[in-house]
Amino acid sequence: MFDFANGRRLHDPTASPAPEATTEIKTTTCYMCACRCGIRVHLRDGELRYIDGNPDHPLNQGVICAKGASGIMKQVSPARLTQPLLRKAGSERGAGEFEPISWERTFEILTERLQKIRSTDPKQFALFTGRDQMQALTGLFARQFGTPNYAAHGGFCSVNMAAGMIYTIGGSFWEFGGPDLDRAKLFVMIGTAEDHHSNPMKIALSKFKRAGGRFISINPVRTGYSAIADEWIPIKPGTDGALFMALLHLLIAQDLIDRPFLKRFTNAPQLVVLDEGHREGLFAFDPDPAAMAERGPPGDGRHPHNKLVWDLPSGSAKAAYPEGIANGCDPALEGHYTLADGTRVAPSFQLLRERVAPCTPAWAAAITGIPAARIEKLARELGQTALQQAFELPIAWTDAWGKLHPTTQARPVAFHAMRGLAAHSNGFQTVRALAVLMSVLGTIDAPGGFRHKAPYPRHIVPNYRAFNDPELIKPNTPLNSAPLGFPASPDELAVYPDGSPVRIDHAFSWEHPLSAHGMMHNVITNASKGDPYRIDTLLILMANMAWNSSMNTMAVRQMLNKKNADGDYQIPFLVVCDAFQSETVAFADLVLPDTTYLERHDVMSMLDRPISEFDGPVDSVRVPVLPPTGQCKPFQEVLIELASRLKFPAFTTAAGERKFSDYPDFVVNFEPQPGIGFLMGWRGKDGTEHLRGAPNPKQWEMYAKNNCVFQHHLPETMHYMRNWNRAYLDFAKDKGWRQKNDPVQLALYSDTLQSFRLAAQGKTAGRQPPEHLRERIATYFDPLPFWYPPLEDSCTDLAAYPLNAITQRPMAMYHSWDSQNAWLRQIHSHNYLQVNPVTAQAAGIEDGGWCWVESQWGKVRCMLRTSEAVEPGTVWTWNAIGKADGAWQLAPGADEARKGFLLNHLISEELPFAGGTISNSDPVTGQAGWYDVRVRIRPAEPDEEQITSPQVAATPPAPGVMGLTQRMKNTLAYFAGQKTS
Ligand code: SF4
Repeated sequence: MFDFANGRRLHDPTASPAPEATTEIKTTTCYMCACRCGIRVHLRDGELRYIDGNPDHPLNQGVICAKGASGIMKQVSPARLTQPLLRKAGSERGAGEFEPISWERTFEILTERLQKIRSTDPKQFALFTGRDQMQALTGLFARQFGTPNYAAHGGFCSVNMAAGMIYTIGGSFWEFGGPDLDRAKLFVMIGTAEDHHSNPMKIALSKFKRAGGRFISINPVRTGYSAIADEWIPIKPGTDGALFMALLHLLIAQDLIDRPFLKRFTNAPQLVVLDEGHREGLFAFDPDPAAMAERGPPGDGRHPHNKLVWDLPSGSAKAAYPEGIANGCDPALEGHYTLADGTRVAPSFQLLRERVAPCTPAWAAAITGIPAARIEKLARELGQTALQQAFELPIAWTDAWGKLHPTTQARPVAFHAMRGLAAHSNGFQTVRALAVLMSVLGTIDAPGGFRHKAPYPRHIVPNYRAFNDPELIKPNTPLNSAPLGFPASPDELAVYPDGSPVRIDHAFSWEHPLSAHGMMHNVITNASKGDPYRIDTLLILMANMAWNSSMNTMAVRQMLNKKNADGDYQIPFLVVCDAFQSETVAFADLVLPDTTYLERHDVMSMLDRPISEFDGPVDSVRVPVLPPTGQCKPFQEVLIELASRLKFPAFTTAAGERKFSDYPDFVVNFEPQPGIGFLMGWRGKDGTEHLRGAPNPKQWEMYAKNNCVFQHHLPETMHYMRNWNRAYLDFAKDKGWRQKNDPVQLALYSDTLQSFRLAAQGKTAGRQPPEHLRERIATYFDPLPFWYPPLEDSCTDLAAYPLNAITQRPMAMYHSWDSQNAWLRQIHSHNYLQVNPVTAQAAGIEDGGWCWVESQWGKVRCMLRTSEAVEPGTVWTWNAIGKADGAWQLAPGADEARKGFLLNHLISEELPFAGGTISNSDPVTGQAGWYDVRVRIRPAEPDEEQITSPQVAATPPAPGVMGLTQRMKNTLAYFAGQKTS
């Protein structure tokens, strides 16, 4: 048996249960990664025994991965924090010297500080969270506080994927939608890490391959999913957009496109103004007052329906909505035309055709490293499978214009893509190019293609405006809208009259206008510089900003410690909430010990990121299956308590009393709209209503009795074509998922992007960017997708740094969460730089040898492994395996610190720009450009120390941290094959 510092025991798996032992199985939802599988937690006498997959859960159907089964070791991790901690007076940040304090004292400190900020200048409080799953609550907290300085991790994860797709097709991959592998015949996966959408993807891929489907993986590295692909097409990082442009070139040139789909369901036939001026590049519209009244004014993504098409039979312009798709109308996709008032116009598809004309396979081959002949073959495979192997399902549906379609057209080509495309400074336009490619093949929400998951599709542009008016940041006043959203025009940017940013992370400013997920990676740098202003308190939840979650890790650690001339820290108060002693905890002024996922209530809400399936909405919960360890408190409870003490209007009754006793009470009773709450199952007083209904006091019990998940099956007529499916659009509006029930035409051409470009070119009268940003906006806000080299290339000596360097998460670990997990550490205790043998040999480094990896920003020393499974121009390693000495309660000299390393030391969080610097991010969305760095490698000298570099001073164990007994150390050593005392 294992003994732990807290005196609790883990069972001996070989012992027979005592006759009187009570065994129990409780269901809840896994959180060993973000996929949210259903699990069964097996308990004996209330103690955790083992975890397996829940066969009755729709997401994973009983499957569990190595991480999920290892949750038991997370629960008893030696790195667990167990009590609130205050930095010792006189100690320095980073030294990790704390004194334990009570929760009451913790709340007093926080309430006093936050009350003062809220009643004076609310924006001096910033709340940034990592890969949490409660943004509906954290966002509400920030909004009620009155600060715009809020975001979750998306800006440094995959906002390019979300925004690039949502601004084009109204949905995206993973929680928002995905490949229909049940009906696809060809599956193309691009830039996807080993664990994205983990168990559901593995289940679907297994079925797909057994059914004879063809699987092509396009990736610089062949690992994980790519290892079971029928074909691996290696590609150079950051060049996927060039491949998509060449594929579009070929498909359009060979007419391997779905013309009826493009005409009826996209803005391909809509006429774009070609004449210079304030309407240049925007859609032509019908100025008739009746048309304006009926279909709205034109000009931004909020009003997409007053547009014109060129009707070929009549040789005249007609309204695109609704006449353009009326019987007898045949809108042109190609050509140039002149309107009655002399305005020159062309269908947007004509402009796309012209855009991709020079993007030949030879052009793309030189950029991507993929031979031109292979690109040509891929285009043929895509086009022929989508069009010539198409079939129809006998499912009748009616479109938004009342036309009955007796069958549903399948397009059996499915794609899946993720961070490999997104984490580049050209990622937004790359993702746009992919979405356009999927659209010309007619695969959007079609059987066998890409399918949405409720509440998607969203309107294009989604009807969620981010807070943007600095005049409305007022003491003791909630914001008039949520801090995050989707801007539709320059008028919706969060900027002061001089164009400077309203937010501390510069999100929604002219620097990164469509930063829909915020820019967490900018916060510490900007707050340290006081750019655009100083903040007082930064609260970070579950984000390891002092280590693997920051670019330029060492500099960020220094910033956290930086002081003003008067001796005060530049970021005066840093609050860190985490369940474990991460590297960032050492820098906190106040530490809030969080619970594990087995000890708390959680919701995967339709208001946030639910786990919906293609055939209907699904939400789920976690319920506590174990009591909290020590004094750990769920962060949700901390927020409810603070919101109540600070008397936020949404959390306080008219009489000034607190409205919600705790988080479960909040979840049951909070309604952003009448009948709509955080959970959609078992609503109504007696729990008989679903999706919409009055609060049900027994809702948690009902979820707990039903595997912690609620699934609603839509009728078959609502399974497909939901951008235009009348029944679904009406239903979605009724259930509060959409504000309007109008169709969502795919935006092959984005007039929203063009509205920013016109402002930058000085052609419109409204808001215009500061001078130094005009050219940047005009270049990257192109209404049609295009490929450009990652921005870092332009300030890098590419001959001196010839290699791309990238990371990915391993299948067995999620970010930095699992280095304290005794079972998972045995799979990855350290990492290597993976290099193609040809590249390693050219650099004179042997397999297993020590080497230096250098970028223009920094260098790391590490061990190298040769591998044929990486294209020769790329080196890569696992993300977040390397750890700081002493963090996560790893033993002194642990492999993670001595042999593990981070590539983050090679990456800069800023790039030179206009005589100063700017965030190393996508210029459209602010997505961190993690994968843009260029490096070179050389052998380490024979007499060099054989440990990774850089190293940092070890931090001591935090008071109350669970730690290890000698017995546990012996057990770990036993597992590592070492002799024990
Ligand atoms: S895939 Fe993720 S959520 Fe599912 S069992 Fe594994 S760790 Fe848990």
